[in-house]
Amino acid sequence: MPPAWTLAAAGGFDNPIVFIDPDGKTPRWYGQTSNEAVDYADQLGEEREDAEEEDEDDKVIIKDEDGDVCNENCEPSDNVQRLLNILNDELEGFNEVDITDSGELFITKTDKVGEASKFATNLAKYLEKLFADENTIELSISDQSSATLGGSFATGNLDLTDIEKYGKGPLESSASVIVHELAEQYEKQINGVSDFIPAHRTALEVQTSISGNKRLENRQINRGNRILIIPYETSNGVQYMRITIDLTNRSILEVKQ
Ligand SMILES: [Zn+2]
Repeated sequence: MPPAWTLAAAGGFDNPIVFIDPDGKTPRWYGQTSNEAVDYADQLGEEREDAEEEDEDDKVIIKDEDGDVCNENCEPSDNVQRLLNILNDELEGFNEVDITDSGELFITKTDKVGEASKFATNLAKYLEKLFADENTIELSISDQSSATLGGSFATGNLDLTDIEKYGKGPLESSASVIVHELAEQYEKQINGVSDFIPAHRTALEVQTSISGNKRLENRQINRGNRILIIPYETSNGVQYMRITIDLTNRSILEVKQ
């Protein structure tokens, strides 16, 4: 097994193996405030001007893979709407995430009364904090991308179908995967963490603090590297999640948990 795949297995859905950029676009960074982040952007051949021309108030920017934030009527594009739907579904109606015309995410409390689950409460707290942060991170969204398996640390791209496959399981959910990717990109784009492993570890900690389930280090890959078994430490003992991956198309086929 080449070391690169071991690294991918460690992430489950992070893929530092190859940086494929099929449409020739480079990832864009906005609103860097740390020298490390700027240096890292430079290192990747980033245009500094891109950062400077952006609105300082932007926080988390989500764009479609073609760079669009909204469709011709300036409603969220299909991919952006799917991302919002995942987050809002898991916020259980107590909070709602929406997006401005410039792609900035924001969250508002609704007037729904009752008690949200612990996960929904923690998710809302994390998003509130992230969206209120003075720094800006940018992610892009694709669907069934052959360059992204789940989420890419290299490009900040999320593959919606892969993420939707997680569903709302007891160990992991689609929203907790999104949180993981947000936390990882925050490490990279704002804290200047250019190495995947430390950024990924921090993202796991954030994810665990929200879901309460700790993803353990041990993992096995069977059947020609296409099945990933991930143990989780839960309040009911160790439980396993099984992810079936199509390596050729870089797709998650099935998640059982
Ligand atoms: Zn990761």
